[in-house]
Amino acid sequence: MNMNLKAKFIKIKDIILDTLFPHNFKCIFCGRDIPSDYICKDCLNHNIFNEGNRCQVCDTLIKEGNNVCDHCKRKKRSFKKAYAPFRYDGVVRKAILQYKSDGAKYLAKSFATFIAQRLEIEEVEFDIIVPVPSHKDAIKKRGYNPAKILANELSKLTSKPVEDVLYKIVQTKNQKLLDYNERQTNLENSIMLLNNSAIKDKNILIVDDIITTGATIETCANLLHKAKNIYACAIARRT
Ligand SMILES: [Zn+2]
Ligand SMILES: [Zn+2]
Repeated sequence: MNMNLKAKFIKIKDIILDTLFPHNFKCIFCGRDIPSDYICKDCLNHNIFNEGNRCQVCDTLIKEGNNVCDHCKRKKRSFKKAYAPFRYDGVVRKAILQYKSDGAKYLAKSFATFIAQRLEIEEVEFDIIVPVPSHKDAIKKRGYNPAKILANELSKLTSKPVEDVLYKIVQTKNQKLLDYNERQTNLENSIMLLNNSAIKDKNILIVDDIITTGATIETCANLLHKAKNIYACAIARRT
């Protein structure tokens, strides 16, 4: 069969299959049934993407004409750059909270797809993926570490291995309850590096679910200082 005819045949087959067995897609943010893709039209109208003029280091939204946010200007970050495809607000925030505390683990795959897309567009080169660790009590309560399953999905999409080299030693105060400065110190000495040789001279991608002030990623990046380059990613960025 010539290629053109073969392509046409495949297309017709797809149309027939779609008619007989319509795909049941659900919007990743509001859960409503949609004909295709990941996000419904309503949610797309909610300014969900982390777009506009953003800090070249931590990916937060900043005023036009600036390259770097005030926090990154004041103190050099230990990571090179962070990437988050969505804004942590509205429907995105709601879906991530479900993902983190309501057992909506299945969203990891879709979230990872958007992160991988962003990393590809920005041509981020990394050798290994390192998830931000959760304390064992938190994992027990929730049943999983949201950053870890996100890392596993990213690994499937990018064919890069996950190295679980960070370990959360103590259950720290919820970052949500703290101000900016408290957040930076709350995590000190709460995480340890288990295996230095696994990260030495490697390009690392740290994975977390949300970036709020960047304090968690900063703590992890400090421990990974023997690496060559450190990048970070998350589903969403607080702006
Ligand atoms: Zn929706
Ligand atoms: Zn910044």
